[in-house]
Amino acid sequence: MSDRKLQVVPLGGLGEFGMNIMALRYGDDIIVIDCGMMFPEAELLGVDIVTPDLTYLVENREHVRALFLTHGHEDHIGAVPYFLAEFNVPIYGTAFTLALVERRLEEHELEQEPQLRTVEPRQTVEAGPFKVEFIHVTHSVVDCVALAITTPLGVVIHTGDFKIDPTPLDSDPFDLHTLADYGKRGVLLLLSDSTNVDRPGYTESERAVRPRMEDIFNRAPRRVIVSCFSSSIHRMQMILDVSAEFGRKVALVGRSMTSSTEIAHSLGQLTIPDGVLIRTQDVMQVAPQKLTVLISGTQGEPMSALSRVAVDNHKHVSAERGDTVVLSSRIIPGNEKAIFRMIDHMARRGADVMYGNMNPPIHVSGHASIEELTLMLNLVRPKYFVPIHGEYRQMAKHQRLAEHLRHSGLKDSFVLETGNTLEIDEKGARKGGTVTVGRVCIDSGTIDEVVEDIVIRDRRHLSEDGIVLPIVAINKHTGRSETLPEVVTRGFAIADDGPDLIQASRMVVAKTLEGSSPEEMGDWGVMKEKIRADLKRYIAKQTQRRPLIMPVILEV
Ligand SMILES: [Zn+2]
Ligand SMILES: [Zn+2]
Repeated sequence: MSDRKLQVVPLGGLGEFGMNIMALRYGDDIIVIDCGMMFPEAELLGVDIVTPDLTYLVENREHVRALFLTHGHEDHIGAVPYFLAEFNVPIYGTAFTLALVERRLEEHELEQEPQLRTVEPRQTVEAGPFKVEFIHVTHSVVDCVALAITTPLGVVIHTGDFKIDPTPLDSDPFDLHTLADYGKRGVLLLLSDSTNVDRPGYTESERAVRPRMEDIFNRAPRRVIVSCFSSSIHRMQMILDVSAEFGRKVALVGRSMTSSTEIAHSLGQLTIPDGVLIRTQDVMQVAPQKLTVLISGTQGEPMSALSRVAVDNHKHVSAERGDTVVLSSRIIPGNEKAIFRMIDHMARRGADVMYGNMNPPIHVSGHASIEELTLMLNLVRPKYFVPIHGEYRQMAKHQRLAEHLRHSGLKDSFVLETGNTLEIDEKGARKGGTVTVGRVCIDSGTIDEVVEDIVIRDRRHLSEDGIVLPIVAINKHTGRSETLPEVVTRGFAIADDGPDLIQASRMVVAKTLEGSSPEEMGDWGVMKEKIRADLKRYIAKQTQRRPLIMPVILEV
């Protein structure tokens, strides 16, 4: 047995943002940690879900023993349905994490019942030669764990995503004691979150947001429209509490908002103050100064509820002069343009938009800054260190941070990128060979509510009603469309109404373009949505059918 080695096989998330997945292999046994998707690039919104290439695991199918999930963010669980299509092994996670997985699975038909096993912090699970203990950590979603994995060669600590919040909203602090215990007994390898290694000091506690929220609610003359990630249960709790305190009713808008509230409420992780919630359709009946709207769409996704409100295209909610709009989330790199355009639209409507860096903060990160990362290294005191979750520069910086541990036991550290393996045996640790990795674009949708919606809807559309592609050419210099838009159809039988319907559809699109302001023309996300909505209405009226409409805008 002494010639056996431990292999660390990152299949995603090292040297790239999102899509976290890693395999640990000892002899003939493999366990997998997380299985996330990648946040699609802004241009891909509504087009692709990006998931990791699972070839390595498929080729070693008979060795895969279990999947362990650290928490419920999309970049850690988003690809679980695709994993389950290939492997029917036990999946371990906390209650909230697995509830989010189940919500995701509702849109997929699996041949076998998945083996979802709920675990609690301090519980230990065995899989082949691995013994895995779950350790409670704090982050921007509830019910997060780090993993302490005991292998025949020693203990591997995988932090998952974390920050060290000394005053979390649920008063359930980071379990530093258990980590320190492992550190004392000796840890072979630490794999630690590098996302915020560029930030000095400590990440602020979730509680730090409360004074800012109170201040906003105190001053707001009319509606407060707050957007945060639908998985940020603590943030939502705070907004519910502050609303109740200021005598405001709360409407939840956006499917992901409603469903994560339901999940968290049913698990006892969210307390809804009595009588505070109202139905979305009743929003207009509540006096503006007595209303909070909690809405999804912080990243300016063109189909999200908040984006629709920004261009006054939402059925129940509008932003008007004097309303306060709060973006309580970070701007994910790549989404800046879409977000700032959305904010511009709100500002034009006369809303006061609060976003970005403020003091006290309007949003705090869920990832550890330098001092917390250092504390993690000092507590765990690993023999080997591999930074995870980050771009290359962040992992390189995290590696340098670890070098001070050379006097307290660190033997070596390695920056690995997705696909590079590390081998550890009794003689030591070294970089190993590479394995097949890559990105797989699976289906259409965006990262938030639209994923669930669109995926199901697309399939139905395509099989029954076909697809309609309005194609608009916009002149680069004038910003206007100077030719009549084209409309191409597939699987959308037009039968009797024939070419006339196509011709009429082209006119409908042309009319939408004419009726749009230069600002809207400059925002392709908005234009696509307007074209889609107008054409959908027209075709439904003429034919009682609902084809999938995918506008294409080209700059010529
Ligand atoms: Zn996370
Ligand atoms: Zn993450």
